[in-house]
Amino acid sequence: MTDILIIGAGTAGLSAAIYGIRSGLSVLVIEQMIYGGQIANTPDVENYPGIASISGFEFAQNIYNQAVALGAEVVYETPVQVELNGDIKRVITDQNTYEGRCVIIANGVERRKLGCEGEERLSGRGVSYCATCDGAFYKGKDVCIVGGGNTALEDALYLSNNCKKVHLIHRRDAFRASKIIVDSVLSRDNIEIHYDSVVDKIEGKDVVESVVLSNKKTGERTEIPCQGVFIAVGLVAKNHLFAGVVETDEGGYIKAGEDCHTNLPGVFAAGDTRTKSVRQLVTAAADGAVAAMEAANYVGEVPALH
Ligand SMILES: Cc1cc2nc3c(=O)[nH]c(=O)nc-3n(C[C@H](O)[C@H](O)[C@H](O)COP(=O)(O)OP(=O)(O)OC[C@H]3O[C@@H](n4cnc5c(N)ncnc54)[C@H](O)[C@@H]3O)c2cc1C
Repeated sequence: MTDILIIGAGTAGLSAAIYGIRSGLSVLVIEQMIYGGQIANTPDVENYPGIASISGFEFAQNIYNQAVALGAEVVYETPVQVELNGDIKRVITDQNTYEGRCVIIANGVERRKLGCEGEERLSGRGVSYCATCDGAFYKGKDVCIVGGGNTALEDALYLSNNCKKVHLIHRRDAFRASKIIVDSVLSRDNIEIHYDSVVDKIEGKDVVESVVLSNKKTGERTEIPCQGVFIAVGLVAKNHLFAGVVETDEGGYIKAGEDCHTNLPGVFAAGDTRTKSVRQLVTAAADGAVAAMEAANYVGEVPALH
C-alpha cells in the first residue's frame, strides 16, 4: 500500500509528490495523459517568483524531474472509479487497482473553448486563455478578448494598460460583471466593445492575424485585424469521477479551503480543481505543498520542513 495516491501530474500533483516524499512517505502519481498539466503547452511563463522567464514545457519538465529524482513513481493510466470513504482508499484505473492511506486530488481544470474555426490551430500562436499569463507579450498591439463576465472584463482592463487597442467581444447586450468593473471598462478610451457578437473564426497563417465576428441581431460580419485573442469564457472543472463521493460546489470544483481538506478524512484537493479565487502555478504549487503536509499529518508521520 502507498502512503499517498496523487491523481494528476500537473504543478499541484508534482509539488505534492515532492513534499510527500520529503516527509518520508511513499507516493504514487496517477496521470491520465502526460505529466505537466495545463502549463506544458504554454510558450512562456514570466510570473513564477524566482524564475524570470521559462517555457511552460521546461517548467513542467523541471518539477517532474525533481519529483522523480526524489523517488516519486508516476504511472500513466486512466482512473475509472474511486473508493475514498474507508481507511484504505482505492483508485481503480483502466489497468490496475491502487490502494493508499490517503489521496490528493490534483486533476486541474480545462479552459472552456469557443469551438470556432482557427481556435485550436492558433492556440499558443496568438490564441490564449490567460491574459495575466500572456498579456505582456502584446504590448503596443491590438488584441481581442472574448467573454462578458468579471474575468473577461478584468482581463480587458489589464490588457488595455499595455495594448494599443482592446476589442471586447460579448455575445449579449449587457455584461455579467460587477458594476465597478463595467464602469472602468466603459471609461477606457482604448477598449472598443462589440455587443451581441460571436466569433465565427480566428484567422492567420502561422499566428493570429484577425478575428471574424458576426452580430447576432443584425447578421453583419466584421473582420478585426489583431495579433492576440484572449478567450475568457470560463473554466471547466473535470470532477465527474468524484461525483457523489467528494463534495463539489455548483461549478463542479471540489470544496476545500486553504488547508486542502475535503469533506472526506484522508482526501485532499490541491490546485485548480478546488474552490479558490486565484488559479495560477504559484497557488497550485502552494496547494501541493499544503496538501502533502496535511496528508503527512493524517498518516501520522512527522513532516520534514527543510
Ligand atoms: C494557456 C495557459 C497559460 C497559462 N499560463 C500561466 C502562467 O504564465 N503563469 C501561471 O502562474 N499560470 C498560468 N496558467 C495557469 C496554470 O497553468 C494553472 O493554474 C496550473 O497548471 C494548475 O495546476 P494544477 O496542477 O492544479 O492543474 P493542471 O495543470 O491542470 O494539471 C492537472 C493534471 O491532472 C491530469 N488529470 C486530469 N484529470 C485526471 C484524472 N481523472 N486522472 C488522472 N489525471 C488527471 C491532467 O492530465 C493534468 O496533467 C496558464 C494556464 C493556461 C491554460
